[in-house]
Amino acid sequence: MNMKLTTFFLFLFFINTGFSQDYDITSKLYGTYEKYKEEKLDKRRIKHHEIQPLIAKHAANPLFTVTKVGESIEGRDLKLISIGTGDTNVFLWSQMHGDEPTATQAIFDIFNFLASNGFKSEKQEILSNLTLHFLPMLNPDGAERYQRRNLLGVDINRDALRLQSPESKTLKRVRDSLEADFGFNLHDQSTYYNAERTEKPATISYLAPAFNYEKDINETRANAMKIIVFMNNIIQKYAPGQVGRYNDDFEPRAFGDNIQKWGTSTILIESGGYSNDVEKQEIRKLNYVSILSAFYTIAEENYKEIPIEEYSKIPENDRKLFDLKITNATYHLLDKAYKLDIGINRLEVDKKENTDFWYSSRILELGDLSTYYGYKTLDATDYTIKQGKVYPNELHNMDDINQINAIDLLKQGYTYLRVARLPLEKLESPIPMNIIGSTYKVPEFLLQIGINPTFLLEKDGKPEYAVINGFLLDLNTGEGVFNNAMIYR
Ligand SMILES: [Zn+2]
Repeated sequence: MNMKLTTFFLFLFFINTGFSQDYDITSKLYGTYEKYKEEKLDKRRIKHHEIQPLIAKHAANPLFTVTKVGESIEGRDLKLISIGTGDTNVFLWSQMHGDEPTATQAIFDIFNFLASNGFKSEKQEILSNLTLHFLPMLNPDGAERYQRRNLLGVDINRDALRLQSPESKTLKRVRDSLEADFGFNLHDQSTYYNAERTEKPATISYLAPAFNYEKDINETRANAMKIIVFMNNIIQKYAPGQVGRYNDDFEPRAFGDNIQKWGTSTILIESGGYSNDVEKQEIRKLNYVSILSAFYTIAEENYKEIPIEEYSKIPENDRKLFDLKITNATYHLLDKAYKLDIGINRLEVDKKENTDFWYSSRILELGDLSTYYGYKTLDATDYTIKQGKVYPNELHNMDDINQINAIDLLKQGYTYLRVARLPLEKLESPIPMNIIGSTYKVPEFLLQIGINPTFLLEKDGKPEYAVINGFLLDLNTGEGVFNNAMIYR
C-alpha cells in the first residue's frame, strides 16, 4: 500500500471510531468553558435555595422539562431536569452526600451549555440520540448543613435496599421509571486520595461498581467500564496521572452497585483534590468537559470499540497524601535528638450557617513517612523543630494586630501573641501567629498525633521556617500559603 492510501485509510479509521472528533469536542469544550460556567455557583458550600432560581431559569426554556420527583425529609423539593428526544436514557444524580457538591455545579454548567447557541451539530448529535435526566443535589438537607448524611443521620448510599429515606425512595423510583441505559453517580472524595504509589492526587476517581460478590462483568458493567476508559483518557490530557480507580468490592446496600444490578450501566465519578484548588473549580471544569464528552461518545456509540482491559490499567486509588509533609526534621526529646517525618492536614471547620469555614490543622502521622506524599513537601534535613515563644508585650484588642509584623516576630522566635480583649465571636487569627487570651497558658510542646502543628524550624539556632496551624511560611522570603491561625482563650 502506498503512503497516500495508508494515510487515507488511517483517516477513515479515525472518522469511523470518532476518536478524532471526540478529541476535537473535548478540547473545544475545555477552551470555551468560561462561556458556559454558571457564575452564580462559585464555591463548595452551595444550598438548595441557590439552585432553585437556576432550575426555574431553565424550566422556562421549552428544551427542558422539569418535574418534581420527591421531597427531602425537611421538605425541600427534589427535581428532575430532562432534555433530549433520543431513545437512549442517561440518568445523572449528584450530591447524595450533602458535602459533595462539585458535580452539582458542573451539572448547572452543562445546562448552560445545552441551553446555548454554541456547538450546534454536537448538541444535535447528543440530543437526538439521548434523553438526559439530571437529579442535582439529591440530599439538600445534608447540603444545608454541609454534612455527608441526611437529616435522619443515614448515609443514603447504604439505603438502596431498605429505602427508609425519602431521598433514597426518590432515587430508586426515578431509576425504575426511566429504566436508564446509563447512570452517572456523582460524588466527591477526600482530597487526600492519590493515584497508587505516586504523589499525584486522585483528582478524579472512577468505578464501574460490581453487581455481585464475584465481581462478574456482564454487558451492563462492561459498558460502564468502557465509558470510564474513555473519560480517563480525557482527564489524562488536563491532569496527567491524576486519576484513580476505586476498589470494586461489592457493597450490597449501595446505590451504585444496585443500579448496576438493576441493568443501568453505572459510572461512579468521585471528585478529589487538585493542587491550589480549595473550592474545586478546576475539578468542576474537568467534570463538565468529561461528562459532556461522554454524552457524545454514548450518542455516537463509538465507546463500544474500547477494550475493557484498559479499565484495569487505571491506577488504584490510595490515601497517602498530606497537605504538608515535612521530612527528616530533628526533634529533641529529653535531651536526645531524633529524626522524624511529619504529616500535617489542614482540617476545615464550618462557620455558622455552613456557608464558610476556617482551618484547624492537625498532625496526622509521625515517623517514617517515606510511603506518603504531600501537596507540599519540605526537606527539613539540617532543621530543628522548636516551640515558638509568647511575645512579651500584650496587645489591648484585635485592632492592635494591624501594627504587628508577624514575619518579624516569627523570625525572633515568637509564635503566640497575647490579646487582652478577645471578642467571643472571633474564631480564627488572621495573622500567622496564634492569638491567646490574657490568662491562657501555652502547654509544653510535645509532638503527638492530633496536636495543632505550630512550631519553628531552626537552622544554626535561627528560625528559617514557621509552621503555623499547618501553614508553612518561609521566613527569609515571607512566602507561603496562609489562611488563618488559631485563637486560644
Ligand atoms: Zn459520596
